[in-house]
Amino acid sequence: MNLSNVRINVENDVENEIKFALNTPISVKKLSLAVIEEMKKISDLSHLDVTGLSKIPLGKLRNNAVRLHAVCRYKNGVKKTDEISPISVRCIDIHPRVLNDRWSRYANFLLFHEFLHALGFSNHGKEFRRLEALWHDGIAREMGPSFTSYLRNMNAGWLWVCPSCDIRHMRSKRSNGRYRCRLCHGSLVDIKR
Ligand SMILES: [Zn+2]
Ligand SMILES: [Zn+2]
Repeated sequence: MNLSNVRINVENDVENEIKFALNTPISVKKLSLAVIEEMKKISDLSHLDVTGLSKIPLGKLRNNAVRLHAVCRYKNGVKKTDEISPISVRCIDIHPRVLNDRWSRYANFLLFHEFLHALGFSNHGKEFRRLEALWHDGIAREMGPSFTSYLRNMNAGWLWVCPSCDIRHMRSKRSNGRYRCRLCHGSLVDIKR
């Protein structure tokens, strides 16, 4: 790996984090209404209670969850072999860090995935995967692994800090003086979290 490439990546990352910091979070309610509108266009789902999805309570996972990005929790006593519809669902929880511009495409897809569980497709079988592939945004469908590594970095053990600008970036490794601040070009300093 060439070090100048690494620098470019870090700079893009820094830029994204600054954008992220300036963003107001996306509301889960708005997200869910947008996803439901999109699902109404999918004819394979037209016989199901897509409108009923809007009544499902939406919550958030813990900030430090890494591999779990969203979950659909059925009500107590509901078995996966039962006839499942939106009223069988206690809540859908989504990762709070996906609710911003940077990850919004993935947030939409995640909620679509959980809504399929709420419509009665309780496991990731063939029919589930066939329907999941009908989501219009193909790139969003592939964003899971990059969101996982983004979360790993967010939970990482080091802060790279610019002492002059006081900008902080969470990283899993030390910067060891190899990286400069994008704004003032001063060396970033490692601080253990
Ligand atoms: Zn699932
Ligand atoms: Zn600086």
